[in-house]
Amino acid sequence: MDFRNYENCNDSVKELYKNQRINQTLTYVQRSLRKYCKFTRKNKFWDLFEKMSLKDLSDPDLDCENYYHLYQTAEAIRKDGHPEWMQLVGLIHDFGKILYLKGCKKDGTTEDTQWGIVGDTFIVGCCVPNTIVFPEFNKYVKGNFDRLGIYKKGFGLNNVYCSFGHDEYLYRLLKFNKVELPEEAYYMIRFHSLYLWHDKNEYEFLEDETDKKMKPFVKLFNKYDLYTKDNDNKNINQLKNYYQKLVKKFIPEYIYW
Ligand code: FE
Ligand code: FE
Repeated sequence: MDFRNYENCNDSVKELYKNQRINQTLTYVQRSLRKYCKFTRKNKFWDLFEKMSLKDLSDPDLDCENYYHLYQTAEAIRKDGHPEWMQLVGLIHDFGKILYLKGCKKDGTTEDTQWGIVGDTFIVGCCVPNTIVFPEFNKYVKGNFDRLGIYKKGFGLNNVYCSFGHDEYLYRLLKFNKVELPEEAYYMIRFHSLYLWHDKNEYEFLEDETDKKMKPFVKLFNKYDLYTKDNDNKNINQLKNYYQKLVKKFIPEYIYW
């Protein structure tokens, strides 16, 4: 199967990417971080995980509930003998999509809008490279930024603003809940949708030493995120026991979100 082929994709995929380019401004990103990353609600992790029934509107390869994709990613990582923390990343990397449970239409954070939750991310406040999916929509990006934009060379990915969505939201949620994971895990979570960086090798001028070290790990993770996609394999019931134990080792029973 050929993944990430956007040529004959659904109009809804296109629409999402167009809206993302139009609306994900620096102001929007900063406002969303303030609005959505307050973490004042508290629920059982597994109750929220069950709500991962959402279908990702930006994904041309998958037409099933996100839920299955998470188990498949985790399982492939486990089969290759990677450590437990990485299996956990596989299982939860898209968990930030629970954003839709507190979203609103004008922010693109509802189940039927999603441009504030999913899709490849890009760095805002500097020029969007034409190696992005649907480069024809770059003409809608507001602000006339050059390559560095508002940033300085070697600024580090931790110090720039990415378009807002499930990556950044989950990163902040886990930090807020004091979930202890290696730095590699946090990079995989925070930048897995930044294909421009880990796949197209853009933004090298912004990288710091840590980014350079972490990039191979994000690339490694991406293999599992992408090549395990399968709309048929939905046999997850016998896996639940294993993953419940795994989650328990890292994540508190109740989490703020
Ligand atoms: Fe994702
Ligand atoms: Fe994913």
